[in-house]
Amino acid sequence: MTRRTLLIGAGAGVLGVLLASCTPEPVPTPTPDRSPTPQPTGDAITPAAFARSSWTTDPFALGAASFTPAGTQASAREALAEPIEERLFFAGEATDTDAPGTLAGALRSGERAAADVLRVARDGERVAVVGAGLAGAAAAARLTAAGAVVTVFEARDRIGGRVHSVADEADWPFPAQMGGWLLGAPDDDLLETLDALDVRAVALSGAEWRSAEGDVSAASVDPVLSAIDAAQQLPADESIEEALTLAGLDPADPALAALLASLAASSGADASAASAWFPPAFPPEERTAPLGDLRPILDGLLDGVKVSLSSPVGRVAYDDEGVSLGIATGESLSFDRVVVTVPLGVLKSDGLQFAPALPFGHRGAIADLGMGAIETVWLRFDEPLRSTPAGQPEEGTGADAETDPSAAPAVWHVVGGDALIRTWFDLAPSTGENIVVGIVGGEAAAAFAELDDRQAREAAIAALAPFIDASPD
Ligand SMILES: Cc1cc2nc3c(=O)[nH]c(=O)nc-3n(C[C@H](O)[C@H](O)[C@H](O)COP(=O)(O)OP(=O)(O)OC[C@H]3O[C@@H](n4cnc5c(N)ncnc54)[C@H](O)[C@@H]3O)c2cc1C
Repeated sequence: MTRRTLLIGAGAGVLGVLLASCTPEPVPTPTPDRSPTPQPTGDAITPAAFARSSWTTDPFALGAASFTPAGTQASAREALAEPIEERLFFAGEATDTDAPGTLAGALRSGERAAADVLRVARDGERVAVVGAGLAGAAAAARLTAAGAVVTVFEARDRIGGRVHSVADEADWPFPAQMGGWLLGAPDDDLLETLDALDVRAVALSGAEWRSAEGDVSAASVDPVLSAIDAAQQLPADESIEEALTLAGLDPADPALAALLASLAASSGADASAASAWFPPAFPPEERTAPLGDLRPILDGLLDGVKVSLSSPVGRVAYDDEGVSLGIATGESLSFDRVVVTVPLGVLKSDGLQFAPALPFGHRGAIADLGMGAIETVWLRFDEPLRSTPAGQPEEGTGADAETDPSAAPAVWHVVGGDALIRTWFDLAPSTGENIVVGIVGGEAAAAFAELDDRQAREAAIAALAPFIDASPD
């Protein structure tokens, strides 16, 4: 990456600044296959490397992504984003109305909150930002560029929050992502930024559905969307699960349950909890997976900003004159304004106290919005899990798999049985590395988070059973 040369221009997004600072690089080519002649593992299913997340029990996250529960208005997010006394401002994915629970939503929320601050702040004011995730970093970048004196307080000993790349070359050929990493749209701003930062990315598309008995027909998303459409005409909001039942579908049908598990894995919300009026976005057919360390995105945004790590804020006292932050180390520090970006899960807990208590509108929003659970597990094997990149692909799902390994379905849906993790990404076709990534959402994720590492590894391997050495006869 060549060095930044531009200052923030009016209206330029913070990622635009990062982008402007980088010379675009050609899209890198995939890593050479370290296992050029794949052979099946047979019964060798002990992973060579294993990494897993536990966001649900992490005190500085207490969940993975906000969602709108049945019966809650999406406008609760706007209520949460409302500035208080022109001193207290809120950002974070939960405050974004367009794409809550995403990387893009987090970034946008930080920019929005910074713009709110700048509308009322005088030159050179001291502004605190609580949280050094994407929202906090985006807010800090914009405020610093506008001349505010910004200090970021981060509870953890690292920046990034729910973005966490584990870069351990002994275990992983590219960093294992414990939090947010998949991008939805090919033209995503973030993707351009990653390109500019030299982080290569691969496309993940095509799906394969298998049960213990073998290939299973894919569950189509269309009837689910129709059921949601129909429920949106009802006088009261229902859960997605109820909407499906009303439309004559059986949410317990194994293939449909696997589809709903993939929705929970991307949104954190079970169909029984998520609103049909304000449903989470269904995962797109193609996702982009960055294969590098995502931390440089945060580093770029926080360049030149004072960041105080290992500094959990326990109390925010505010009035119309200013703000005082109580840090867990015992210090109390005064600022003109504060941008609070802690996750909704933390706001729901008593981990962060406000004095005076937040207005009813904010407390109502915090209580009403849901904090969903998503956990992930990365497994690397010395040998390929499959003797071919895929079994006989379903029509329209990775059709050229047998002739072109990179066209093999990247998404595996585990249908039926009692697997805890039903949604998997096979990174072998796109990277040549024997790595699979399991993602689990909703109540199953909360259960996964409670497992110790040995149990989590066993649950992951057991869930993969339909896909292990599932070569065509
Ligand atoms: C497993 C998982 C998978 C995901 N997958 C995707 C995906 O594929 N694509 C996608 O777009 N999104 C995904 N997401 C969501 C995405 O990661 C988040 O929406 C985004 O990172 C949230 O950013 P944020 O800045 O709002 O919050 P955070 O990143 O959580 O930042 C908040 C910061 O506040 C800090 N903090 C908490 N309490 C305190 C305190 N008391 N004092 C000081 N600091 C505090 C936290 O440590 C944290 O650093 C995923 C999330 C998870 C967990």
